[in-house]
Amino acid sequence: MSKRPFITKVQAEEIIKKFPTPFHIYDEKAIRENARKLYKAFAWNKGFREYFAVKATPNPTILKILKEEGCGTDCSSYTELLMSKECGFKNPEIMFSSNDTPAEEFKYANEIGAIINLDDITHIETLEQACGIPETVCCRYNPGGKFAIATTIMDNPGDAKYGMTKEQIIEAYKILKAKGAKKFGIHSFLASNTVTNEYYPTLAKILFELAVEIKETVGVEISFINLSGGVGVPYTPDKEPNDILVIGEGVHKVFDEVLVPAGLGDVSIYTELGRFMLAPYGHLVTTAIHEKHTHKEYIGVDASAVNLIRPAMYGAYHHITVLGKEDAPADHTYDVTGSLCENNDKFAIDRPLPKIDMGDILVIHDAGAHGFSMGYNYNGRLKSAELLLREDGSVVEIRRAETVDDYFATLKGFWDIIK
Ligand SMILES: *Cc1c(COP(=O)(O)O)cnc(C)c1O
Repeated sequence: MSKRPFITKVQAEEIIKKFPTPFHIYDEKAIRENARKLYKAFAWNKGFREYFAVKATPNPTILKILKEEGCGTDCSSYTELLMSKECGFKNPEIMFSSNDTPAEEFKYANEIGAIINLDDITHIETLEQACGIPETVCCRYNPGGKFAIATTIMDNPGDAKYGMTKEQIIEAYKILKAKGAKKFGIHSFLASNTVTNEYYPTLAKILFELAVEIKETVGVEISFINLSGGVGVPYTPDKEPNDILVIGEGVHKVFDEVLVPAGLGDVSIYTELGRFMLAPYGHLVTTAIHEKHTHKEYIGVDASAVNLIRPAMYGAYHHITVLGKEDAPADHTYDVTGSLCENNDKFAIDRPLPKIDMGDILVIHDAGAHGFSMGYNYNGRLKSAELLLREDGSVVEIRRAETVDDYFATLKGFWDIIK
C-alpha cells in the first residue's frame, strides 16, 4: 500500500498563504466515512456505541463531527469531561475510563452523567465517598500474563498498570451490587495499535466468557461490554490496514457463540477507539528550512517533537511524503529533524526519500491521533495550529497556534518583573 496525502502541493501552498507551517490538518470527509463504516460493522448489535478516546484528538470541532456520526466520548480527566459536556455530549454518551483518579473527578463525572469505569477495586470506596455508587457502573479487567493471538504475543497485560485481576473484578461486582448498582459493564484494553482483524474478536471472547461467569457467580447481568481501544492503523506502508467490517463480523460470531446461548443476547457492545478513528485522517504539514551535510544528511524542518512526539518517544515510524514529489524515486537518505536540543527530535532516521529542496513541503502521515495532543512546550517551542479540510474543500482553523503570551501566561508576576 502506498500512502498518498489527502492534500496536494497546490492545495498546501494555498493553505500556507493563510496558515503558516507547521500545522495539523484533518480530513472531515474521511473521518465521517470511517466512522460510518465502524457503525456499519457493528450494526448487528442494537446498543452499539463508539466512545471516541478524547485524548487522541481533543478538539471540540472533531468531537462534534463524531457526535454527528453517533459517537460518544471516552474521557480520563476533568478537562476531557468538561470538553465533552460543553460539546453537548450527555448521559449515556460519556464514558469515564480513567485510572489513578482523583475523587473530585469521580464526583464531576457523576454530576454530568458520565458512565464511570473503575480501574481498581479500591476505587469503589473513593467513588462511594465522592458521590455515592451510581446505578450504572463499569469495571476494568486485566487478566495478566501475555496477550497472544494464536502464537503471536501482542502485548503484555501482566506489566500494565490498568485494571483488576479476575478475583478482584468478581469481588468488585459483588460489592457494587450490594451497594445498589443495577447496570454493569466490563471493560478491557489488552493490546495497543493492533494491525490484525483478530484483536477485537479474541478480546471479545475473553470478556464474553467473563460476562457469563459473572452472571453465574455474582448474579448480576452485564448490560454492556466495552472493547476499548487498540484497533490500530498501518503506520508503515507495507502493512495492510484493518478491515473493520471483518472485525465487526468476528465479534458478531463470538457474540452468537458465547453470549446468546447464555441468555446475554441483549448486551451492548461499546468501543473506545482513538487511533483508528483519527490517525490516518490527520497530517502534520511542515516546511524544509535547512539542509545539513555532516556525518549524515539532515533535513531540518519547522516542526519538531513538540508537534508530534511519537517518533522521539517510541521510535515510532511516521511515513513522510514530499509534496509534488509523490512519484519521484526515493534515491536520497535523510534524517529529518526538528529544532529541539534533544538528539531524538527526528521525524525519520536514515529514511529513503526523494531529493528534498529548501522550501519543500513535507506531509507527515498518520498524525491525526496522539499527534497534536501529546505535544509539549520543550525549549519554549509553541504548539501549532489545527486546521480542518471541510467536505466542500474549504479549510478552517479549528485551533489557533500558541503565542508567546500563551506561553508566559502561567508565570506569575513575570511581566511585572521584566517591565
Ligand atoms: C488510549 C485509550 C483508548 C484509545 O486507544 P487507541 O489506541 O487510540 O485506540 C481507549 N480507551 C482507553 C481507556 C485508553 O486509555
